[in-house]
Amino acid sequence: MTERVYNFSAGPAVLPVPVLEEAQRDLLALPGVGMSILEISHRSKKFDEVILGAEADMRTLASIPDNYQILFLQGGASLQFSMVPMNLMPAGGKADYIVTGSWSKKAVKEAQKVGEVRIAATTEPENFARVPHQDEIALDAEAAYVHFTTNNTIFGTEWKSDPDAGDVPLVADASSDIFSRRTDVSRYGLIYAGAQKNLAPAGVTLVILRDDLLARSPEGLPTMLDYNTHAKAKSLYNTPPVFAIYVMGLVLKWLIAEGGLEAIERRNEEKAGLLYDLIDSTEFYRGHAERDSRSLMNVTFRLPSEDLEKQFISEATKAGFDGLKGHRSVGGCRASIYNAFPREGVEALLSFMKEFERTHG
Ligand SMILES: *Cc1c(COP(=O)(O)O)cnc(C)c1O
Repeated sequence: MTERVYNFSAGPAVLPVPVLEEAQRDLLALPGVGMSILEISHRSKKFDEVILGAEADMRTLASIPDNYQILFLQGGASLQFSMVPMNLMPAGGKADYIVTGSWSKKAVKEAQKVGEVRIAATTEPENFARVPHQDEIALDAEAAYVHFTTNNTIFGTEWKSDPDAGDVPLVADASSDIFSRRTDVSRYGLIYAGAQKNLAPAGVTLVILRDDLLARSPEGLPTMLDYNTHAKAKSLYNTPPVFAIYVMGLVLKWLIAEGGLEAIERRNEEKAGLLYDLIDSTEFYRGHAERDSRSLMNVTFRLPSEDLEKQFISEATKAGFDGLKGHRSVGGCRASIYNAFPREGVEALLSFMKEFERTHG
């Protein structure tokens, strides 16, 4: 048996062990089908069960109302940076963007190719160490929508409560914290997420979209870039990423069995709390994010010098902790502890960090 290490990767990221075990059991032949999930048609009865089951379980897990479409697309969250404005911004229209990190900036760049983008708030001057307060956000009541990033994967910040967009539809890039805590889907016009951080292996992109927004898509959009195509065809207009959807279905079942979003939220708060408590208790480790913006998913921290950071990461890797190197725009370290990341792994990292401080501090 190959040993699993503790995988702190920001994405693609750790998946629940029971999910991997079930996928492994089914890999040669799905029960009652005699073929692998990798080999079956997306038009087969079995795959119908898989995709409809995933949708139904997602509705249960997050109480997604009936007037919301659930779409399983491709192209990553990055394609949504374009599809959102192409579909939701009317000709000559404008949209508000709240900029809280590198991914928000990329979303702005694509939206600017489609229409007028207003930066409603940005925390770039503070190297994105926090998300803005409501009173710093200047919203335009005429905007087609307000776009924000719920969790900033690179900087390790997360909104504790969503920006209030009034009657303007709120569009959320939730790629790195989707279904990590309780959520009220009815507050949003559209939520999207590349699935490879908290939901599934790479290859599928989730879009949850309020029905009335479908009417906004202009005539003449490329067929594959029009949300209506995928809504009408129930995500089966063309071949969807069958395997990734199947695994997402298993992850959703796992989330429900673990107690749903309330239980997951509690667990995520405890896991992140262990790391932030250590960071707060010492001068050796310094968090990048400000306290009231700290992410439960990506914990970013620095050590006293870059040399010590290099040594820390190299010794951590040897000790079985993978993926702790921070993104170059923040430097230092980042522990990504998504839903599937086990508490024992956080406790083991904590012991390692304390020992490292004792011997190098
Ligand atoms: C990873 C990430 C993306 C990019 O996702 P892709 O699926 O690789 O395009 C976008 N937004 C956020 C917040 C992310 O964490």
